[in-house]
Amino acid sequence: MVNQRKKIPLAGPFITQKEIDYVHDAVVTGWYETYDKHIRQLEQAFADYVGAKYAIATYCGTHALHLAALALQLGPEDEVIVADQSYIATAHALSYAGAKCVFADVLPDTLCIDPRQIEALVTPKTKAIMVVHFGGFTCDMDAVMNIARKHRLAVIEDACQAVGTFYRGMHAGTIGDIGTFSFQGAKIAVGGEGGMLVTNSEELYQRAKHYGTFCRNDAIQYLWSDDIGYNYRISNITAALILAQIERIDELVANKKRIFESYKKKLANNPYFEMLLPPVDCRPNYGYVLGYLRDEVNIDRDAFVKRMLDLNIHFRPGYPAMHRMPPYGQTHALPNSDRYDRRGLVLPTAHSLTEEDIAVVCDTLNRSIEILMEGK
Ligand SMILES: *Cc1c(COP(=O)(O)O)cnc(C)c1O
Repeated sequence: MVNQRKKIPLAGPFITQKEIDYVHDAVVTGWYETYDKHIRQLEQAFADYVGAKYAIATYCGTHALHLAALALQLGPEDEVIVADQSYIATAHALSYAGAKCVFADVLPDTLCIDPRQIEALVTPKTKAIMVVHFGGFTCDMDAVMNIARKHRLAVIEDACQAVGTFYRGMHAGTIGDIGTFSFQGAKIAVGGEGGMLVTNSEELYQRAKHYGTFCRNDAIQYLWSDDIGYNYRISNITAALILAQIERIDELVANKKRIFESYKKKLANNPYFEMLLPPVDCRPNYGYVLGYLRDEVNIDRDAFVKRMLDLNIHFRPGYPAMHRMPPYGQTHALPNSDRYDRRGLVLPTAHSLTEEDIAVVCDTLNRSIEILMEGK
């Protein structure tokens, strides 16, 4: 078999002269009295873009999630119902605050929390629901918000993968109490690292801001701190890079859509792989191509991923179900999350992918599965 010599990367950004100019500007001018100029511009631009009252830029998305938990005053007495499929940061951030994660299964066709699973998990200790807009698709927020209202629960939206995603015309992350975003290098818009918290509540905004800046209270005394807080600020240079990306967000979504639609056409009726498509009510950012090896395909998923990596095509397996990991160790099965854990696949969707790259990925996927099936 011919080795695919050119690496086809899983993820990677779309950088133009604008990003270079903004970073250059930050490096040259972002000091002294303008040390946070790009941070303030980014927070304003992001709040305007998503339609939220307040935005706080953070060093990374995980910090935004932790600040969300702190702003909602979640602690050791509290349970939070968490979607079981996500990057582990979602659960760990709640654990930093001491809250207990109670995992809920996801829907097989979106990998987002199954609203029907939530209510059975509500106890007198439940204080919040943490949903994840998985892979740039949206949760059924109407159903989630109804349950939250009925039981008086707060809602945190982990929209770290959903910059550019809308649910019924509202940007992901602006529907519940607090939304969080990430600009880590594999996301649709990048800063290397970078995160954002948004909310419409002034109280939550003030508390998140306070905890993210060491709980400083200069009103009492200069450099006074009135509680244990954190240094979760973003660098002004990073903010400049993200600002350029947010100003180009429509172009970034359009480019991801090009890649997504090409895969969709090539993988329609594929006998081996089932690609996930956006749910109704969702205008996705098209950032990810996700799916499952079909049940009939009797091969080991990890052997398949390894084979693709050996051929220089960067696939990734689905996330391990969070409830199974040692800090959480929940014993009951969550069948849909467990299925994505065992059979899930993430296809390459780097911004740089060409039409030819996508054809190579799909052809190699088919051939590799056939070879592995014959080897059985
Ligand atoms: C990337 C990601 C995070 C963490 O964001 P960082 O910026 O890497 O800290 C959290 N949740 C989800 C769903 C993510 O995809």
